[in-house]
Amino acid sequence: MQNNDLKQNDDTLLEVKNLKMYFDITTGFFKTTPLKAVDNVSFKIKKGETLGVVGESGCGKTTLGRSIMNLYNPSSGEIIFNGMSISAYSDLKKIKLEKKFELRMLWFEMNKSLKQFKKDLDPNMPEEERQRKITHRQTELYAQLQSDTVRLSKEYDEKYLAKKAEIEAAINQAISNKTEALNKLTPVSKDSDNNIAMVDSKTIELKEKAKADILAAKQEMLPKIAAAKEKKLQGFKMLQEKKQADKEAISKADASNKQKLKKELVVEEIVMKEKIVADYNVEKSKAYGQYQSTRNEIKAALNADIKSLREQSPYYTYVDNVASINNQCKAEIRRVKSSSKIRMKAFRKQCTMVFQDPYSSLNPRMTVQDIIAEPLDVNHLYSTKEERRSKVLELMRKVGLSPEQSTRYAHEFSGGQRQRIGIARALAVNPQFIVCDEPVSALDVSIQAQVINTFEDLQKELGLTYLFIAHDLLVVRHISNRIAVMYLGKIVELAETNELYEAALHPYTISLLSAVPMPDPKSARENKRIILEGDVPSPMNVPTGCPFRTRCPRACERCKNEVPTLQEVKPGHFVSCLLVQEELKGNN
Ligand code: SF4
Repeated sequence: MQNNDLKQNDDTLLEVKNLKMYFDITTGFFKTTPLKAVDNVSFKIKKGETLGVVGESGCGKTTLGRSIMNLYNPSSGEIIFNGMSISAYSDLKKIKLEKKFELRMLWFEMNKSLKQFKKDLDPNMPEEERQRKITHRQTELYAQLQSDTVRLSKEYDEKYLAKKAEIEAAINQAISNKTEALNKLTPVSKDSDNNIAMVDSKTIELKEKAKADILAAKQEMLPKIAAAKEKKLQGFKMLQEKKQADKEAISKADASNKQKLKKELVVEEIVMKEKIVADYNVEKSKAYGQYQSTRNEIKAALNADIKSLREQSPYYTYVDNVASINNQCKAEIRRVKSSSKIRMKAFRKQCTMVFQDPYSSLNPRMTVQDIIAEPLDVNHLYSTKEERRSKVLELMRKVGLSPEQSTRYAHEFSGGQRQRIGIARALAVNPQFIVCDEPVSALDVSIQAQVINTFEDLQKELGLTYLFIAHDLLVVRHISNRIAVMYLGKIVELAETNELYEAALHPYTISLLSAVPMPDPKSARENKRIILEGDVPSPMNVPTGCPFRTRCPRACERCKNEVPTLQEVKPGHFVSCLLVQEELKGNN
């Protein structure tokens, strides 16, 4: 079975199909080489499952997680969430980009193959024969390139035209629905309604009043900002004075103490400066926040008043109905044209990410409640400030943080508590799926256990699905239902956790598992450690054939020429190794 044919399950939440994430790296004048961070990866995750992803540093685990979240725009491939295809681009643009990418890769692969051919030629071969062989191979490769280019172009052009026709049909349908709905309305002429003058004059009056109220709210905000600015300037003045006093203290200090004192005072100055800026930002955003909510309230009240006024007039009721039908049609056309963007927005509400570093992933200038409420603000998921606050406090309780700490800043928390803040932020939108990117690798071992337990408890309580990226095999074993092992951007083995740990098949997985420390000294002594030779090759220059062949203890001539694919060798156990596949085929 090919990797893209992995078994279809009805309870699949996320499906990744042939995902590629290549970065163009400049390697000379007008020359770029693709860095294959994720290369043709396919897998599925069931609802409520945890799929662990392991591998050495640089194997593409994090890039895979970020590509799924569309924090990077994948070079090609498809991500299907809850049966919906997700992409940051519109459907037509995505097809065009994929075509361009695939055609460029054909050129790249041809050049690479020719280079390898030249390298493999016998160095003692006479020059004339060497040239003849190279020319012959070149001709073969060009012919192959041409036919592949024609085939691929045709495939993508057909796909493009089919999608275009689908979009056009949907637009035509929306227009005909609009015409039908307009025909059903009974026209009302302006002359037939005496209320028009009254509605118009009252509307103008209401608008003027709302304008004046908004202006007053703005005027109220400005002095608050000016006061915050004044406080900031005073703070900086004090900082200047402190700097001057520190300079004098340093000049008077003993030579032996000078450096130590200098360092201490510099740290004090940095902390003071950060506090001044943070205080200013908090006060400024508070004033703007108040202004924004007052303005929104005034506008909402104005719209409600105008709506009830217009409902008294048959003419305006008719005009509003026409406008609403037109708007519905426009919205439908917009939805059809940019449906993938809308899907992406919906996807972002259901999928979130917990980042690796709990220190750099939290804004030091925001309080914990603002950090956790950021996704709520972006997605407009509350109607009053009280609702926002109660949601934040509930999230803090859920991840084991005390609600009293909500007004503190991130630097006032330990590493484990910070990671809990990150988890609370990820839970804010009530997601179904979370990408956990090495969420415990920056924490102490004792704190790791607490955070892992939090993940497990939340999964049980909320039915969450995780993609759990880590390089610690023991952590992954503890939390995952299934595990995927990655090497040089590809999945080389994928199986249920117990199956993988007890009957690993790929030579790379076997060597990784042999390095796991064992708590029992007797078993540790008996365990035969497999030490891989050589370094991980560069993802810009992946070896031909099997990518693992340069370090594989079982590599043979066949591994040099054939590229293994991920195939199911036992129920639910997928391996990408030519020898293992052949052996198990022989056994069956
Ligand atoms: S295909 Fe060959 S090189 Fe690759 S893992 Fe299997 S034995 Fe090793």
